[in-house]
Amino acid sequence: MQPFYKNTPSSKKPTRSGKPGQSGLAKNSPRPSTSGKSRPASQSKKTDHKDIIAKAIKHASEKSEHLRTRASERDFKSGRLSAQKSRPAQKGPQRDPQASTQKSTQKGPQKGPQKNKPVSKDPKRSGGGKRSSAKPPFKTDEPRLHTYKNKPRLKTGSDKDKLTGTDRVKVIVLGGNEEVGRNMTLIEYKDDILLIDMGLQFPEEDMPGVDYIIPNTSYLNNKLKNIRGAVITHGHYDHIGAIPHLQKKLGNPPLFMNALTAGIVKKRQDDFKGFPKLNITIINSDDSIHLGVFKVEFFRVSHNIPDSFGLIIHTPAGIIVHTGDFKIDPKPSGDLPTEIDKIKALGKKNVLALMADSTNAPKSGHQLTEGDIQHNIDDIITNAKGRVIIGTFASMLGRIQQIIEACERMGRKVSIEGFSMKSNVKISQALGYMKVGKNTIIDVKEAAKLPDNQVAIICTGAQGEDRAVLMRIANGDHPKVHIHEGDTIVFSSSVIPGNERSVQRLKDTLYREGAEVVHYQMMDVHAGGHACQEDLKDVHDWIKPKYLIPIEGNHSFLRMHAKAAIENGFPAENIFIADNGQIIEFDKKRNGQLTNKKVPTEYVFVDGLGVGDTNHIVLRDRVELSQDGVAIVVAVVSAQTGKLLRLPDIITRGFVYIRQHEDLIPYARRKVAEVLKDEDSRSSANGQYLKDKVREELGQLLFDKTGRRPMILTLVMEV
Ligand SMILES: [Zn+2]
Repeated sequence: MQPFYKNTPSSKKPTRSGKPGQSGLAKNSPRPSTSGKSRPASQSKKTDHKDIIAKAIKHASEKSEHLRTRASERDFKSGRLSAQKSRPAQKGPQRDPQASTQKSTQKGPQKGPQKNKPVSKDPKRSGGGKRSSAKPPFKTDEPRLHTYKNKPRLKTGSDKDKLTGTDRVKVIVLGGNEEVGRNMTLIEYKDDILLIDMGLQFPEEDMPGVDYIIPNTSYLNNKLKNIRGAVITHGHYDHIGAIPHLQKKLGNPPLFMNALTAGIVKKRQDDFKGFPKLNITIINSDDSIHLGVFKVEFFRVSHNIPDSFGLIIHTPAGIIVHTGDFKIDPKPSGDLPTEIDKIKALGKKNVLALMADSTNAPKSGHQLTEGDIQHNIDDIITNAKGRVIIGTFASMLGRIQQIIEACERMGRKVSIEGFSMKSNVKISQALGYMKVGKNTIIDVKEAAKLPDNQVAIICTGAQGEDRAVLMRIANGDHPKVHIHEGDTIVFSSSVIPGNERSVQRLKDTLYREGAEVVHYQMMDVHAGGHACQEDLKDVHDWIKPKYLIPIEGNHSFLRMHAKAAIENGFPAENIFIADNGQIIEFDKKRNGQLTNKKVPTEYVFVDGLGVGDTNHIVLRDRVELSQDGVAIVVAVVSAQTGKLLRLPDIITRGFVYIRQHEDLIPYARRKVAEVLKDEDSRSSANGQYLKDKVREELGQLLFDKTGRRPMILTLVMEV
């Protein structure tokens, strides 16, 4: 599986007014619990939650502005204006905006200091009533986003301490062991900490508005002075993407990476104005560096970005090898081959533990080499009658190099479209990683003047992303490139789970426009960048570690990696399948254990410029808004008497098509008026009571009439 890179610089905020993306909002997300009746299951709707709230608030504020003006002569007390959300379930401490996901909610049997209280307890959402009554090893009051729902509840480690001495090497995977993405590992011995990678993860479908997720580094908050440095294995976003956000928090520790990774990391940092300058040291695979007590050496591996490497970390407990992302590719493209000799030499060095990439562990056999697919690419380009338009990942520099070489052989000019792809190609050309003939790459405007059969376009968007180039071309939204009859479109990347529908739609559109579509399913135009089962077994055999720690992948991937190893004769008891944050320890006698102790790993969301300030409460509101919309009640009462001055207004967005429910709103307005009439709204205590009452009664009425439960906000204006 490919890591899923954004094809536009992810620091750039996606336009908020745009479509809600391909996420297919909240289809499987936990249905917000509401008091009273359950909701018919068939009502999942796609509505643009941001539009709804933006418009509704705008509308409401315009109204209040208008009222305010009218009332100003009469000493309008603006402080009394308030809004109230509709769900009674949200009263109480869980509304604490500080209960950010960043804070520790980790529990479990660890005895260490636990300053942070669990985030929030929302009895309505801790659900899962069918679970057995046996006490789960980790508390269950975590946010009920679906990813958390599926959180493993089995102990994979041991509560018993089997090691000797107290001076231990700790290995903690902070991210990347329950998902593909946000890779980050820390290795700690006494006062020395070494970090490996700082990646990002793209949001799940029940996280609307979230740009991405970064590793939770709260464990390091009191240990910043111990961080000796961070080594970055390669330039993919799931390994580098969190650097801008974490560097400041971690006290800007020195970073070590190869030249190409450094180019990409620096370019990305430029997009974050005002962020600290990074302290980068460029290394190559023959270097060795000392970071505190750790000595780190490197071995080059094949992946689908040049110069990826794995780490050989000498620790007081023994050698720990970390592969980074890798595959074994005897015929790589645009890159030097995996340093197999170095890896094999490790077999004689008594390696303590191997942490190895599990991304493709579910796949049997060996991974294809980039060389295997070269002739397929050649064939496609030779046989194409019109233009060839190839969609791939912006960071798939090896593949881009292959395509360019093939085009040069066939006499085609190449245009590159997509901001991040262009800049990546420029960086790797400048650093000598990519060799391109002087006149091969031309602007699309130039390309338009050439006959179609002399042109190839490499672009982003093979995942059907809304804003990426291929989708814009297909939809006729691209300013310079339009589909011609007879174009051949090549999807040169596997489809990331969740993107299937967008990709299918994209293909349909392309066919309608008269293009031919070639996908990796039809031909091997994509070789995965990660080792398959047989490759993994080879690596286990070569390195002969005492312990195996599968990393980088969903839990099932780690399991399959372990299964392959066990079939190959690896002792099962020496394989540690850790969750994110679960502490692995090694003593000085070369013994290791997977403990049940955990460090915080809750999601830290990056949302616009905010890091960690969007928490699960905010997300739950967004999910609710996206499902049934919002209804805003604006009631105008007399400041003197508390009397309702006119029929309350009700504004809805994303709720029902009002023209089809013409009687509903007038009826609801009268109902609300009745509720408000009864009470003296002047005392603020009663004001709150009234709002609750409006929310409940109106909520019930709307549900009875429509089967939907919009969020209800009540504004009581005194004039
Ligand atoms: Zn990678």
